[in-house]
Amino acid sequence: MTFKEKPYLIMTPGPTQLHPEVLGALSQFETNPDLDLDFLEVYKGLCHRISVKMNASGPTIILAGEGILGLEAACASLIEPGDRVLTISNGIFGRGFDDFSTMYGGASVLYEGDLRRGLDPDKLEAFIAENGPFKVATVVQCETPSGITNDLEAVGKILNRHGILSIVDAVSSFGGERLEVDAWGLDVVLSGSQKVLSAPAGLSTVTLSERAVKAIKDRKTKVASYYANLSIWLDFYERKSFPYTQPVQMLMAFDMAVDRLEPRASIEQHRVYAAAVRETFRKTGFELYALDHESNTVTSVLLPVGIDFKTLFSKMKENHGVLIGGGFNFLENKIFRIGHMGENLAAEKLAVTLDALQACFEDLGVKTYKGRYSEVFLTLLNETRFL
Ligand SMILES: *Cc1c(COP(=O)(O)O)cnc(C)c1O
Repeated sequence: MTFKEKPYLIMTPGPTQLHPEVLGALSQFETNPDLDLDFLEVYKGLCHRISVKMNASGPTIILAGEGILGLEAACASLIEPGDRVLTISNGIFGRGFDDFSTMYGGASVLYEGDLRRGLDPDKLEAFIAENGPFKVATVVQCETPSGITNDLEAVGKILNRHGILSIVDAVSSFGGERLEVDAWGLDVVLSGSQKVLSAPAGLSTVTLSERAVKAIKDRKTKVASYYANLSIWLDFYERKSFPYTQPVQMLMAFDMAVDRLEPRASIEQHRVYAAAVRETFRKTGFELYALDHESNTVTSVLLPVGIDFKTLFSKMKENHGVLIGGGFNFLENKIFRIGHMGENLAAEKLAVTLDALQACFEDLGVKTYKGRYSEVFLTLLNETRFL
């Protein structure tokens, strides 16, 4: 059986499941976005609401491409050949920025922290003092592959003190973790549609500070891309035209998802569920990959000795209809991951996932906790609600 015959419970850290209202919005509206000025207003309103929900006073642009397009566009548009770029990394996405920076001519210097811990602000600052100055720094809020959420407030302060523009990947954290773009002094903040927002994959959002807009406008060289060039978006509203035809249905579904997001309540809910998921794994005999700064949107768990991820994944899929995430790059076959973000954040879905995992591990001869994982989880969820 494939996804065409039966719907799976998609408990991966993105793409997440779609809410019926979001799914419905995909088939509700039609217009020609190049000619209908009402659509331009809808698009602008949506961009504005994203800025507001990120606590940003600057503009947001929505690009017609999955999250990665935002990462590439930020680097393409901010970095000029020869610019010194600080690539701040404690994981796979952090390190990945190095490719985008160098691709557009940046002289990237890699700062790599402990891969199992949140970034250490003191060590980062010492590194900058020794290796600076830098024009731009790239940093990831939530390292989705390892389940670590960095303290962006601390990182933002350091970068501001040293006059460094920041490019921040908040793709898997926006809506699930605190994000104060203005107060933390962040310059280019990136997100996407398919993580916490639980809209279809295929859109990325780019939120810009005044400084970032100025840096793009003041470039001495042309951006070596059209699709990843943010400057073609800076005056779309004044020109009353988009740089290319917009995907109306995707944007209307995203509009519905953004409407449904109430950041304060959502962040609190993610915190509560994440705490219960983590504690369930600890109590039932597992070890988390993250040693501190655990993410509130995804949990990475070390695979029990002798268990192959592919075997676990297909058992979960075939016997229980549940999709879980695995590790890639240096984490390949070392961890499994549960996404507890957006629409995945439901006691029932997590309980089903945990019991399915338990059944698979028992099948595979792994000795773990005797009681039911879901009972541990539901009890903890009730407790963490009151923390
Ligand atoms: C999901 C995600 C992206 C988008 O990348 P894909 O791997 O193509 O989904 C970018 N950054 C982070 C941190 C993400 O979690």
